[in-house]
Amino acid sequence: HPEKWCEEFNHFISQCLIKDFEKRPSVTHLLDHPFIKGVHGKLLFLQKQLAKVLQDQKHLNPVVKTRHERMHTKRPYHVEDAEKYCLEDDLVNMEVLDEDTIIHQLQKRYVDLLIYTYVGDILIALNPFQNLSIYSPQFSRLYHGVKRASNPPHIFASADAAYQCMVTFSKDQCIVISGESGSGKTESAHLIVQHLTFLGKADNQTLREKILQVNSLVEAFGNACTAINDNSSRFGKYLEMMFTPTGAVMGARISEYLLEKSRVIKQAVGEKNFHIFYYIYAGLYHQKKLSEFRLPEEKPPRYLADETGRVMHDITSKESYRRQFEAIQHCFRIIGFTDKEVHSVYSILSGILNIGNIEFAAISSQHQTDKSEVPNAEALENAASVLCISPEELQEALTSHCVVTRGETIIRANTVDRASDVRDAMSKGLYGRLFSWIVNRINTLLQPDKNICTADDGMNVGILDIFGFENFQRNSFEQLCINIANEQIQYYFNQHVFALEQMEYQNEGIDATPVEYEDNRPLLDMFLQKPLGLLALLDEESRFPQATDQTLVDKFEDNLRCKYFWRPKGMELCFGIQHYAGKVLYDASGVLEKNRDTLPADVVVILRASENQLLQQLFSIPLTKTGNLAQTRARITAASRSLPPHFSSGRLKVDTLEVIRHPEETTNMKGQTMASYFRYSLMDLLSKMVVGQPHFVRCIKPNDDREALKFSTDKVRAQLRSTGILETVSIRQQGYSHRILFEEFVKRYYYLAFRAHQTPLASKESCIAILEKSRLDHWLLGKTKVFLKYYHVEQLNLLLREV
Ligand code: ATP
Ligand code: MG
Repeated sequence: HPEKWCEEFNHFISQCLIKDFEKRPSVTHLLDHPFIKGVHGKLLFLQKQLAKVLQDQKHLNPVVKTRHERMHTKRPYHVEDAEKYCLEDDLVNMEVLDEDTIIHQLQKRYVDLLIYTYVGDILIALNPFQNLSIYSPQFSRLYHGVKRASNPPHIFASADAAYQCMVTFSKDQCIVISGESGSGKTESAHLIVQHLTFLGKADNQTLREKILQVNSLVEAFGNACTAINDNSSRFGKYLEMMFTPTGAVMGARISEYLLEKSRVIKQAVGEKNFHIFYYIYAGLYHQKKLSEFRLPEEKPPRYLADETGRVMHDITSKESYRRQFEAIQHCFRIIGFTDKEVHSVYSILSGILNIGNIEFAAISSQHQTDKSEVPNAEALENAASVLCISPEELQEALTSHCVVTRGETIIRANTVDRASDVRDAMSKGLYGRLFSWIVNRINTLLQPDKNICTADDGMNVGILDIFGFENFQRNSFEQLCINIANEQIQYYFNQHVFALEQMEYQNEGIDATPVEYEDNRPLLDMFLQKPLGLLALLDEESRFPQATDQTLVDKFEDNLRCKYFWRPKGMELCFGIQHYAGKVLYDASGVLEKNRDTLPADVVVILRASENQLLQQLFSIPLTKTGNLAQTRARITAASRSLPPHFSSGRLKVDTLEVIRHPEETTNMKGQTMASYFRYSLMDLLSKMVVGQPHFVRCIKPNDDREALKFSTDKVRAQLRSTGILETVSIRQQGYSHRILFEEFVKRYYYLAFRAHQTPLASKESCIAILEKSRLDHWLLGKTKVFLKYYHVEQLNLLLREV
């Protein structure tokens, strides 16, 4: 009842003032009274809050209604058991801190549709597997600039915290979203962008719309339906939202990592190709344009069938694909792609689908028995036509290769297998470059208007949404890379939440009991160290033409002698790894070839000669994915300067990082392997992340059946264990998430205790004066820093606004 509350509050204030006035009956004194000044600000603020609460009350109702509705549905757990535990928004506030209590707490919250829970400044997000009405603009308003405790935990509150930190401390921020596949990372990333766009008050409506469309466009090309998630991200994405120094959104930039290109040519049983292929096929069919793009009408292309060769469904009859195609056309238009560019994109996509239809058959002549030919010339002609290249040259590039020996060039015929490999490499190469081009083009179209502010003057909030940890029945090179990336993110999390925090207490002379946590660094070393780490060994083996997948696994076994690696008996081509998130069995067949990722020079030459300008561009100019080499080196050097000391003493020595040549600078013909590209990407990502202040969102999947309200205790327990949530709760309970240098603290908050003409020293004493004046409890002072809990900073910022 906000009205009643307001009434009581007014009454209370009047009583206080009357008492004070009775003591010293002077009007001037009263007006100058700090209480009056403070209260005036507080009242204004309160008034605004009340207006918001009243406005949003009706929007909160849908949640309440859903709860009532739910009373009639079967609840998946015994209410009586859970009632023993009271609901706690922040697990740090709980008195009993064991695994079961935490799980019950999360379970009780989950079935009450409270999917978010805090662990100090970290947000746990449980996937609701149903649409909740808690993300409307009214909710954005509700969570805007208020104390965190005013509302239930929410993803908007985390976005808000990052934004407020950015504006308050003029520092870049980084929101790291992690969790296994299907746990809700991408959805969370969307919601964060939505709230940041709201906070960034984009006056420019067009820019706002553009930013909101970016995710849909990139995800149409980079996401696919897997056995686990119908909209699984098959690439890693770091989206930076750029703001002016006053906090207005001015642009955005995306970096993409490790697109799973192999999906273009092959998908596991029950899985699909990238969404865009189905959208375009269905969309062009409905627009009666399949023939314009030379796509066969009677039977969908081979790349859209699953491993068994069966077309999974009738693509053209699916209404949702057609609608998605229209949505993508809309996205292209809003973001600013020209019609010509969009047409070229469709041509390249159709080209890839047509290439996939090219078949090879063995022909035997008197002298040679391993030549191949294309029995279905029509597919070849269609591909060549839509890609604007010569069909004869295409056939030549697919069915033969040239060998240069002692100055002589010999043309050799390709076997059926080799020709098929070249065809598939061509499709992957085309799609990978097209994807990078789209991302780069978006970055150009969304870069800040230099007349308003340059990117260097502004600040940004980066949002990392990287593919989740994967453990399928069959795991290959792609899963290995994905899981190593997840190890790296977990390491980053551990560093920030445990190692750096404990080291900081030590350095500052603060007594804190160390919290034990599972350090995954030895495992990361096993993957990344040189010359005997797994990736280095893989690269070494890839350089030997005689090497096989069998010799690769033998090499791993000979060199990786540690508890994290094992080789199962009777499975020659398999090896197992004990990851932080569980044991994974990898199948090494095809790994060497995937790592070599060669695109024959002949293919590049013919594509470069295309009359399609976009295609020419994709294969002529090296794409500047994340800047050129010089820019990357400069960024890594800059990042190393702002790194905490711990980072420069170990494996992640960013300042002495070997800067691996960017894959796009070598056109992949000079032996750039996927492993070295992967290593480069990982370091590039890390160099971006370490410059920002991190915020963590940990997504949890409550069940494997994608069912709303179903909470599998074992499933959640495993995720909490592997990500060290229990330890996080302990350290956050003891810990201080904000550690601010005395100088910075005094500069920022001196108005709270001093007058404008005063120039307090940047000393411990000045900090104490401010903290005491602000009536905060439970803060700590180290040798050089003030140690604050997140709610202290909130409180200080609110007080500052009132002054
Ligand atoms: P991957 O690693 O495979 O990319 P992910 O962690 O990004 O997985 P999402 O694609 O974000 O997972 O989520 C999977 C599905 O869960 C979504 O398609 C959606 O149906 C549901 N989901 C996740 N979060 C929410 C939410 N906040 N509200 C409603 N549904 C959600
Ligand atoms: Mg995702």
